[in-house]
Amino acid sequence: MKSEDLAIADYFKPIPLQYLCAMRCSSGKIQYDSQQLAEDALIDQHIYKGFAEHQGPQNVYECRDCGYWHMTSKNAERLPRLQEMIDSGEMRKKQQASQWERRF
Ligand SMILES: [Zn+2]
Repeated sequence: MKSEDLAIADYFKPIPLQYLCAMRCSSGKIQYDSQQLAEDALIDQHIYKGFAEHQGPQNVYECRDCGYWHMTSKNAERLPRLQEMIDSGEMRKKQQASQWERRF
């Protein structure tokens, strides 16, 4: 790989895919290509934003309008992966670790 190619790759890397294809859905929500990606993003939000368990997005769903996956926040059954992380204390640990990292 030439050095210019590397520079170009670096230039494009910071733009998450979901922003490049955002707003194609009438819901105006961020679109995720798969359930897995949507779940990962939901869990990341809980970690980095330090949500209490009832705050923030609770689950993901496949959209009938656009066919992509979105997060849903209200009155949704909690994502089992998220619930497990909360119950095991893993979520609290990761939230604390993320707060710690942001002090530097
Ligand atoms: Zn949609």
